[in-house]
Amino acid sequence: MTEAVVYLKPGRERSAELRHPWIYSGAVDRIEGDPQPGETVVVCSSKQKFLGWAAYSPSSQIRLRFWSFDEKESIDADFMRRRIDQAISLRVDQLSNPQSNACRLVHGESDNMPGLIVDRYADFLVMQVLSAGIEYWRSDISKILDEKLNPIGIYERSDVSVRELEGLEPQVGCVSGEMPPEALQILENGLKFNVDIKHGQKTGFYLDQRENRHKLAEAIKGGTVLNCFAYSGGFTVYALHAGADMVISLDSSKEALELARDNVHLNGLPLNKCEFHESDVFTALRGYRDRALSFDTIILDPPKFAPTAAHANRAARAYKDINLLAFKLLKPGGTLFTFSCSGGIDLTFFQRIVAEAALDAGVDAKIMHFLHQSSDHPVALNFPEGAYLKGLVCRV
Ligand code: SAH
Repeated sequence: MTEAVVYLKPGRERSAELRHPWIYSGAVDRIEGDPQPGETVVVCSSKQKFLGWAAYSPSSQIRLRFWSFDEKESIDADFMRRRIDQAISLRVDQLSNPQSNACRLVHGESDNMPGLIVDRYADFLVMQVLSAGIEYWRSDISKILDEKLNPIGIYERSDVSVRELEGLEPQVGCVSGEMPPEALQILENGLKFNVDIKHGQKTGFYLDQRENRHKLAEAIKGGTVLNCFAYSGGFTVYALHAGADMVISLDSSKEALELARDNVHLNGLPLNKCEFHESDVFTALRGYRDRALSFDTIILDPPKFAPTAAHANRAARAYKDINLLAFKLLKPGGTLFTFSCSGGIDLTFFQRIVAEAALDAGVDAKIMHFLHQSSDHPVALNFPEGAYLKGLVCRV
C-alpha cells in the first residue's frame, strides 16, 4: 500500500520536529492521494523532508495525529502491539499491586497512542476511542488487549462529545468477552469501590485522583470534612477510613450519591457519620456561609469548567467563587484540597485564582502540597497538554 502524503505549509514543521503529536488543519498545505478517515499518511515539510507517520482525520481541527517520527517504522498491528506493551510496562508496579486493581493502562497521546484510553477495573477493561486513527485500528487494538491481559470482558465507553469533532458517532457496548456487572467491585489502596462501568461518569471512576485520595487520608486528623463534587464518594470513603468525625458529600447527581453511600457501606464505615446532599455546590456553599458553618477539611474537585483556553476566563470566575467560599468556611488551621481538571487552565493560572480567592476571603493561606494526576496518567514531555489535573493543598 502506498500512503498518501500530506505536505505542511512552509515553516509549520517545528512542532513535529519537537515531536508534538498534533498538526492542526491550518498547517496543512496539500495532500497527495486520497486518504480515508483514520488512515496512515506520510507527513512532510514544505521542503519534502520526512516528518513522521500520522493518522489522518479530515473532520477534525487536529488534522493529523502522529504515530511515529521514525521513517523506518511500519504502522501495522505489530506496531499497535508494541505500543500497548510499552504502556503496560510503564505500569507493572500498578498491575502487581495487591492493594489496587484499577488503573489507567493507556493514556492516549502520553502513551503515544493518540486518542486511545484503556482503563482496567479488576478483571474488566474499558476502552475509549477518541480519534479517527484509533477507530481505524480498533479491532486490532481490542484483540491485542485480549491477548495481553486476558480480561473477562472489554467494554467500550466511546460516548464523549469529542468524538463528534472527529466525525465519529458515539459507541458503547461490549467489545469482547462478558458484559460487566452493574456494580463491579474494585480495590483502591485497600479500599473497596463499586464502579458502574456502563453508566458511570468517565469510564466509571476517577482513577486520576487515586494518589490524591491517599494524600487526603494522610492529612485527616479527625474533624469535619466537606467533600464537594463527591461523585461516587472516593474522597468520602478515604476521609472516613482515616478517622474523620463527620463527612458531608455534595453532588448534583443523585445516582452518584447513591453509589457514594454504597461505597461507604461496602467498606464497613459508619453511615451515621455521613450526610449526602444532592445539591448545587455553588448554592450549598452560600447556604453554609449564611448559616456560619465551618469545617476542618474541604475538598473541591469540580468538573472541567474550561475544556480549552477559550473558556478560561469564565471558568476562572467559577473557580474563584467556590474557592473563596471554601476559604471562608474553613476553621482556623483547616485544610483545603482544591483541584482543577481543566485543560484550558494551567497550574500558574489556577494558583493565581486560588490566591485571589484567599485574599478576597481575608485568609492567610499556604500551599502545603502541589498535586497532580496519578502516575498511571503520565505526561509525555513532548505533550505538556497531558498535564490536565492540578491540585493545591492549602492550610489556613
Ligand atoms: N471527586 C470525585 C470526582 C468528581 S467529578 C471523585 O474523586 O471521584 C465532578 C462531579 O461534580 C460529578 O460527580 C458531577 O456530577 C458533579 N457536579 C457537576 N456540577 C456540579 C454542581 N454545580 N454542583 C454539584 N455537583 C456538580
